[in-house]
Amino acid sequence: MTLSFASLGLSAARVSHLESLGYHEPTAIQAEAIPHLLSGRDLIGQAQTGTGKTAAFSLPLLEQVDSNNPQVQALVITPTRELAIQVCQAMRSYRLQGRPKVLAVYGGQAIDRQQEQLRRGSQIVVGTPGRILDLLSRGSLSLKDMAWLVLDEADEMLNMGFIQDVEKILSQAPANRQTVFFSATMAPEIRELATKFLQTPVSVTIQAPKASPKQIQQISYVVPRGWTKVRALQPILEIEDPESALIFVRTRRTASELTRQLQAAGYSVDEYHGDLSQSQRERLLIRFRQQQVRWVVATDIAARGIHVDDLTHVINFDLPDAIENYVHRIGRTGRAGKTGVAISLVTPLEKYKLKQIERQTKQPVTLVKIPTRAEIAARNLERLRSQVREAITSERLASFLPIVSQLGSEYDLHTIAAAALQMAYDHTVPAWQRSEAYSQNTDDSDRPTPMPRKKPMADRTEIIESP
Ligand code: AMP
Repeated sequence: MTLSFASLGLSAARVSHLESLGYHEPTAIQAEAIPHLLSGRDLIGQAQTGTGKTAAFSLPLLEQVDSNNPQVQALVITPTRELAIQVCQAMRSYRLQGRPKVLAVYGGQAIDRQQEQLRRGSQIVVGTPGRILDLLSRGSLSLKDMAWLVLDEADEMLNMGFIQDVEKILSQAPANRQTVFFSATMAPEIRELATKFLQTPVSVTIQAPKASPKQIQQISYVVPRGWTKVRALQPILEIEDPESALIFVRTRRTASELTRQLQAAGYSVDEYHGDLSQSQRERLLIRFRQQQVRWVVATDIAARGIHVDDLTHVINFDLPDAIENYVHRIGRTGRAGKTGVAISLVTPLEKYKLKQIERQTKQPVTLVKIPTRAEIAARNLERLRSQVREAITSERLASFLPIVSQLGSEYDLHTIAAAALQMAYDHTVPAWQRSEAYSQNTDDSDRPTPMPRKKPMADRTEIIESP
């Protein structure tokens, strides 16, 4: 028998709302944790991102807080502002009729705005330790009615040196609260903290649906001598057509310039690095998560704030300096049972690094040639063919048949079909390479021309992003 959300004790209205979000059955951590949390037990959950842990602690909170009481009743502490925003958004999406009110508080955003929102009443607050302490000391946040406290990614709090702040918050919280810790790993410090602040907690451990390295296909393209990497990247993007990708670069300047060039070529892409303001970063993350932007060009340091890890592609425009970073980067793709693609651009001088990567990941890296113009054209036409096949079986087809009948009295059907295909092709293939895609040149040495370039790419002497 498969478990249902209803059997875990959630209300019928919530269960049907979850259905509408595509949550048909609970994940393992949800099945284990939700009944305990609804019964009021303290809990230590060992689970990583991707296991559904956010909903595991959020759903019981949403079920239990009193929306008619304007006081803060639940506090979720997260190590980063990005995670605070992400948890807040997830919670809001699980609500019924927009209740209860969930507010994210974090540094980098004007405190008076958060104070004003708190004055107007919020039942659940999600925030970073520093900002929570700040709001507590200003008297804007009161823990008087707080009945639930969640510590999310406790191990990250430890890594980032926030444990003392967390302790300060925990010691100000009412004693009769329910406390929940989630952590990917259980360091001794976390256990100690749990012993101090949790009362006879239940422990729930879920093995993350870890991407075994096999689920990440590693591909490497050697940039031909005399070519810039941007020139090499263009046909790769064209042939791979990544649905969602993080493109890693070494410096902020490369991030800006590459982004501008890709945008000029018509791609849905934006940049994420240390030169951007907090609000610019937040806006981008929201658009990336909502798939309004398909690709993000980021530096290693900045990318740590991007809690998105079910990407179809990770692209190493520049290889990282340390191999561990390579493993960390490519771990963003191929999660939760899906196959991901990790692409690296290497210069002929960097080819030796591929051996190191193979040793470290214990998986082969496939060397692939930069696709030719003819190969790209063939791929584009193949894509078009499969789109036509899909359209033929779609329900909307019937509404276009009268147009075919009308045109049929003037032209023969082949001509009409070819004209329609041409229009579809022009919509899907960027203008800058359309004419070339149709050229009959099949010479393999005939590589695509570079994308429009506004400025030369940055040289190697620029400043590397620092923490
Ligand atoms: P998390 O581990 O909380 O970051 O969640 C990972 C992803 O799984 C998020 O995109 C959730 O929206 C999704 N998710 C969580 N629970 C379920 C569920 N029961 N069914 C389907 N998707 C889920």
